[in-house]
Amino acid sequence: MSGQKNKIINPCDGTVLAELHLASLDEAGEAIARARKAFDHGPWPRFSLSKRREFILKIGQGILEKAGELAELESKNTGKPIKESTFMDIPSSAKAFEFIAQNFERYLNEDAPKLEASAEAKLLREPLGVVVLIVPWNYPLLIACWKAASALAAGNSVILKPSSLTPLTALELEKIIRAAGLPDGVFTVINAGGDEVGKALVSDKRVDMVSFTGSNAVGRKILEYSSQNVKKIIMELGGKSASIVLADADIETAVNGSLCSIFLNQGQMCTAMSRIFVQDKIYDKFLNDFAAKAQKIRLGDSLDHETQMGPLISDAQRKRVIDFVSKAKKEGTRLVCGGRLPEDAKLKKGFFFEPTVFAEAKKDSVIFKEEIFGPVVIINKFATPDEAVELANASDFALAACIWSKDEIKAKELAKKINAGTIWVNTYGMFYNELPFGGFKQSGFGKELSKEGFLEYTRLKNIIFDKSEDGKPLVNYWYGG
Ligand code: NAD
Repeated sequence: MSGQKNKIINPCDGTVLAELHLASLDEAGEAIARARKAFDHGPWPRFSLSKRREFILKIGQGILEKAGELAELESKNTGKPIKESTFMDIPSSAKAFEFIAQNFERYLNEDAPKLEASAEAKLLREPLGVVVLIVPWNYPLLIACWKAASALAAGNSVILKPSSLTPLTALELEKIIRAAGLPDGVFTVINAGGDEVGKALVSDKRVDMVSFTGSNAVGRKILEYSSQNVKKIIMELGGKSASIVLADADIETAVNGSLCSIFLNQGQMCTAMSRIFVQDKIYDKFLNDFAAKAQKIRLGDSLDHETQMGPLISDAQRKRVIDFVSKAKKEGTRLVCGGRLPEDAKLKKGFFFEPTVFAEAKKDSVIFKEEIFGPVVIINKFATPDEAVELANASDFALAACIWSKDEIKAKELAKKINAGTIWVNTYGMFYNELPFGGFKQSGFGKELSKEGFLEYTRLKNIIFDKSEDGKPLVNYWYGG
């Protein structure tokens, strides 16, 4: 036991929600040993697929049965408005298990290609072994469930390391999974910081795969640690996503959708559209309408159903955002609204920050290039669709994009040219379990969700049978003749 504890803070008012034991290196090592034993000798990877499906379904049902409690806990711990956790995070977490349960058996069937007449192949999709899931604080339960549903259904043993800022719903998930009856060691949550225990989990030779979602800086460290003994990695990293609003768009829809695309979850979304490019003919109207509505967003306690925006996750995160805002001002970017702490006395104890809009940021400015991960957006002008594509692609990240236009053909042509793993046309933030999600370039590699996301947690083996008529393949003659 480390004897160390971490205080879990409610970012709405700085109060302590819980004081939790932090796992030591020894405890992380023991969790790996139990996971290893469960995989190498336990029943989980050996159960029939239909039996495993029953367990996965039970986990989804377990989440739904506790939906209200989980939504409240998630909102208290992250500060996200209860409306978001109630209607998005929690039902989508349950759905991730339900969807995988209904589909993974089909995904595991691999047709082997036909070979020459004298040979036949069989392809086997197998679990990898012990899989470590490392997740961030912005969607603590949802991202854990995206990963855990696939990793468990595939037959792996799983160790989940939530962010030490937001472990509460992950610990509830562990209880739900235990109540569903999964064998010992198949699913363990480690409440710990990243630098020591996270590093140890990733570096350990007994771990076969690491599925990481988080920042680019930590992602690079994970690549370094995992190189010590070469293991499968998937990386879902940051973004600086672009939204392109063409002159023929329905302006009201584009404004409302764009507000969601940057201010949901206080802008702490990997897919946040933090760069909005608007065609010159409608630029002034878009900017005015957007800024007017941004200023009306209701900030408040995360448990209040009227709240539209909560606080940032921590004081440190708010300082980071303030720092970006100062840099943007110094670089001469025009501040249209926000950029300050709210004046409302009720919000003083929390880590609140006003929705912030900048206009006409230069392409080489910090605010154009770096992920802020807060409620800060730049709105720039473009003349032609080609210019919009060039601006959108002028980023090291390539996670997601939006296009707002009534012309579907034009939107499709633009979408083909944009560097991003997911492109929403006339909408934002629609994630489907059926569709793979994941970025390119500095936004990482590998997919979550869908068949492709599920298959990330498997390895593909081929078995080749000799079928030569006389039972004597070529190798028989090489040394034997
Ligand atoms: P972070 O990188 O600081 O932390 C992510 C996780 O890594 C946490 O669990 C943390 O404890 C752990 N960690 C930290 N240092 C570690 C180390 N040295 N070794 C092992 N683990 C370590 O990210 P964050 O601040 O929690 O989340 C915000 C970031 O996550 C943003 O950059 C955002 O874009 C990204 N994100 C990406 C996606 C996606 O799907 N692409 C989704 C959500 C968030």
